[in-house]
Amino acid sequence: MKVWVDRNLCENHGQCAIAAPNNFEMDSEGVLQYEEEFPEAELEYIEDAMDVCPVQAIFLKGEQ
Ligand code: SF4
Repeated sequence: MKVWVDRNLCENHGQCAIAAPNNFEMDSEGVLQYEEEFPEAELEYIEDAMDVCPVQAIFLKGEQ
């Protein structure tokens, strides 16, 4: 499964990195870094990240 962050929307709030730390992390400059591909077992955390993102910048890609 794949996740995608719209960088035009993302304001680097970092809530996604708290909700799904296996996929999202803030780098030393406070900029979001993330893995596009994730195992299905991570889906609930990814969905939590989507829910908590204050600007709704996180999207699932492809099959669900
Ligand atoms: S929670 Fe949303 S705005 Fe914040 S870093 Fe993650 S994707 Fe960007």
